[in-house]
Amino acid sequence: MSIKNPISRREFMRWAMVTPAAITFTDQFLPKLAYALQEATKEYPIIWLQTSTCSGCSISVINTIHPSIKNVLLEQVIPGHQLILTYHGTLMAATGSLAVETARESAIKYQGKYVLVVEGAIPTKDNGIYGSIGENDHQPITMLEWIDFLGKNAMATLSVGTCAAYGGLPSAEPNPSGSKGIAEVYQARNITTPVINIPGCPCHPDWFIGTVAKVLLYGLPGPNEIDEQGRLKLFYGRSIHSRCIKRDYYEDGVFAEKFGDEGCLLELGCKGPLTNADCPVRLWNGKANCCINVGAPCIGCTEKGFPDAHSPIFERR
Ligand code: SF4
Ligand code: SF4
Repeated sequence: MSIKNPISRREFMRWAMVTPAAITFTDQFLPKLAYALQEATKEYPIIWLQTSTCSGCSISVINTIHPSIKNVLLEQVIPGHQLILTYHGTLMAATGSLAVETARESAIKYQGKYVLVVEGAIPTKDNGIYGSIGENDHQPITMLEWIDFLGKNAMATLSVGTCAAYGGLPSAEPNPSGSKGIAEVYQARNITTPVINIPGCPCHPDWFIGTVAKVLLYGLPGPNEIDEQGRLKLFYGRSIHSRCIKRDYYEDGVFAEKFGDEGCLLELGCKGPLTNADCPVRLWNGKANCCINVGAPCIGCTEKGFPDAHSPIFERR
């Protein structure tokens, strides 16, 4: 890859790791990042495929608080403009066969050079007939067929949200559609395109923007940069518990018995000790809060096996 990148790796790491110094520096950094992404996607565009999803991850990502990043995502999704997203089933202006053709044509034009973003699980039972996007000769094109076509020809695949990463809610028991995450589908179909998982229910906008920037500006992550669940350690390298605002209560043995009580939320089902993500320092909603900070236990939304493995949600495990 050869693109003009105005951001040093050091600057990027400073932002991505939410260092205390990064808080004031973020406002100057994000417009530079938006420009860098805009330039990079002229050469390496993004095709965003929505499969079995509630669209929550799209909503989360476009709620990215910084206007320059939001503009890159929103304005560029309209066909005819220089596109960061050449296809997004919900955001793009085109509909029907025109929208589907845009995805197909982009994949052919940019073969081996585009990044495929998948949002949602893939129904695989009965040849994937439980989920389709568009038609070919009046026959539905299954999400599985799209994944075959777009996945094989992509430079890399980013699985946005826990459904795309590991199956998530669509794959919860009894999983009648045989829904699975992308890496599992690729493995079964011998697709060797690298997959980077960006789980979360939904995914935090910074995790998405940061992973796109990592891939487009600095290349595919090496094995030391990825954890055993296929996530960037930059964002998922430590547990919620390790940096939790209520950690002193935990150490002192002060546990809330009901919602609203003072204390650590472990007895109310908090999965923070089993869950890796940087929510306690990155925070959500424009750095306003995160689940635990507003009195709700972490439900482990970034982990493989969510939600089944973490149920019952409000009971201690
Ligand atoms: S609230 Fe959860 S993450 Fe925080 S200290 Fe208690 S168990 Fe750990
Ligand atoms: S605190 Fe836990 S449940 Fe809340 S967003 Fe972060 S990982 Fe998900």
